[in-house]
Amino acid sequence: MDGLHSDIDEVVLSAEQIKSRVIELGLELEKDYQGKSPLFVGILRGAIMFLADITRACQLPLAVDFIAVASYGSSTRSSGVVRILKDLDEDLRGRHVILVEDILDTGLTLNYLIKNMRTRQPASLEICALLVKQGKQKVILEPRYQGFKVEDKFVVGYGLDYDERYRNLPYVGTLKPGIVEEELD
Ligand code: 5GP
Repeated sequence: MDGLHSDIDEVVLSAEQIKSRVIELGLELEKDYQGKSPLFVGILRGAIMFLADITRACQLPLAVDFIAVASYGSSTRSSGVVRILKDLDEDLRGRHVILVEDILDTGLTLNYLIKNMRTRQPASLEICALLVKQGKQKVILEPRYQGFKVEDKFVVGYGLDYDERYRNLPYVGTLKPGIVEEELD
């Protein structure tokens, strides 16, 4: 038992599937932002793998920054009350900003962040989410760039954690029963 791969119940997205979709998205961004120098803002910590791969799939003179947020609530559910733990280093005024998120669940975290970013007067602001959970959005958010629509199941891997583990799995999968302590709705 290695306690990493052996904890996975089902692979939802393989490393190959992720890789080819990320390349497609990178090319789409490259086309849409031709002649511009966008700022990719990664939401820590879940978006790190996605940000690292998508920026390399996108041949633009882009810049990268990070913001870290904490959502009040449990480890598996977000509440919509968001606290900024680490703010951006860059000034957003007049910049073309792409907010890079691992997974859109209720949408509450991103909704808060978008409002916050808009007050900083970027020239444009778009969302790029690797995963969008189906049927869970509490606020209507349709990211311009999205990787995959996924079922309403708790997933880990490719940056996504459970209790800070599993981020380094190259694929996205569900955990075996009994590993997630809290009952999910
Ligand atoms: P939202 O505010 O959209 O409900 O939640 C967004 C955040 O909750 C994500 O950035 C992620 O950190 C966490 N989250 C939501 N669903 C999942 C999931 O299935 N797995 C993991 N590991 N985190 C999730």
